[in-house]
Amino acid sequence: MEKIRYERPVINKIQSGLPDKFGAKFVLESKTDIEGHSVTELLNTFGSPLYVLSENTIRSTYRELIQAFTTRYPKVQMAWSYKTNYLDAVCRIYHQEGSWAEVVSWFEYEKAVHNGVDPKKIIFNGPHKSQEELKAAIQNGSLIHIDHFDELYQIIQMTQHDGTKAKVAIRINMDTGIYPQWERFGFNYENGEAWNAINRIMASEGMELVGLHTHIGTYIMSPSGYAVAASKLAELAVRTDRKFAHKLKYIDMGGGFATRNTLKGAYLPGSDTCPTFDEYADAITGALFHSEIRPEDMPLLILETGRALIDDAGYLLGTVIANKRMASGRRGMIIDIGVNNLFTSFWYEHSIMPGIPVNADAEDTQICGPLCMNIDVIRQAIRFPLLQPGDPVVIERIGAYNMTQWMQFIAYRPNVVLLADDGNPYIIRKKESLETFQQNELVPDYLK
Ligand SMILES: *Cc1c(COP(=O)(O)O)cnc(C)c1O
Repeated sequence: MEKIRYERPVINKIQSGLPDKFGAKFVLESKTDIEGHSVTELLNTFGSPLYVLSENTIRSTYRELIQAFTTRYPKVQMAWSYKTNYLDAVCRIYHQEGSWAEVVSWFEYEKAVHNGVDPKKIIFNGPHKSQEELKAAIQNGSLIHIDHFDELYQIIQMTQHDGTKAKVAIRINMDTGIYPQWERFGFNYENGEAWNAINRIMASEGMELVGLHTHIGTYIMSPSGYAVAASKLAELAVRTDRKFAHKLKYIDMGGGFATRNTLKGAYLPGSDTCPTFDEYADAITGALFHSEIRPEDMPLLILETGRALIDDAGYLLGTVIANKRMASGRRGMIIDIGVNNLFTSFWYEHSIMPGIPVNADAEDTQICGPLCMNIDVIRQAIRFPLLQPGDPVVIERIGAYNMTQWMQFIAYRPNVVLLADDGNPYIIRKKESLETFQQNELVPDYLK
């Protein structure tokens, strides 16, 4: 056998964030309008930066998800995950489409009530519910999803003597084959905690066990994890029926479907790897049908899909402030969109595009925000055409979490505009101003 020829190894300096040698191909696309509204005009009218949401995309994505599930399963109910985007106008669109509310704090609970949601259709999740909040939610007939034994005992104590019957479900965490496994919320399936909690609820006078809930994680790219989760919940439902002759009204599979955004460090773009709603629906409903639940007892299937419903509907428009050549030789472009406006830039490589037509010349560029802070980087390295100060840029798929996790840091939060189905843009949250802060800040007399 011929000896393989030795080759001296070489070390290449690579810049973080750049595509590797197999990397995604470079596509130079501009986005000059959003559903017929010129990007430049929107910025001129409503200021820069600017959040834009498309009502049409919100509704059509919702209907796509509903169709994927209702064609496979008889009883499906969505519950809008408030923390994903709780602007009132947005929530009301989902409620108009038929969605319940899924809240994880009293602030969100109050918002849902304010948005006209029947309290019986509010799912109250999360590890922290105060005594007063629990009491009010129980009296309103809301669905309480219990997170831990302390909460469970608290509800037993609260309902013991006053004849109320709290409608409860438990949140369950489990091994679904997806790691790292989320274990900090709810009761564990494998170690018997979940079954233990079910037994304690069934033995208590003041609670009615109406459902079982899980939320296995977020941005879950493999539908099979949902199949495992659904079959484990179904197994518990069957066991509960056998032991107590008690049928559960619903199984709540939580949220977590991936979006077409690309995770940092991901090998392929999210638009290539994101499963379809049909694939998730197949996995979940398939597992429920495979279970031992009798056909006439099939529970309502609740979904709390957040990011996958609204990411695509959101855009962040901004303006180029300056270009510079950095000491390393790399081009830097400063825009007026910072990480305070784009919280998700900490884990997504956001798709950013020129807002005007450009020619084909492009160069590796670091895109930075306007904050006086080293970590204010929107894209570490991207091939980007040269734009001039004042030119618009558009960041796609920012509808989820950015309008709730945004930080009022250094600058006022900008306007949010809804491109409505009637063809008009509406401001749905006003740009902050000094008055916004004067309303809440107090100066003691001796400092005046
Ligand atoms: C955040 C959250 C959701 C929504 O999650 P996504 O990953 O955005 O779909 C649903 N249910 C619960 C309990 C949550 O905490």
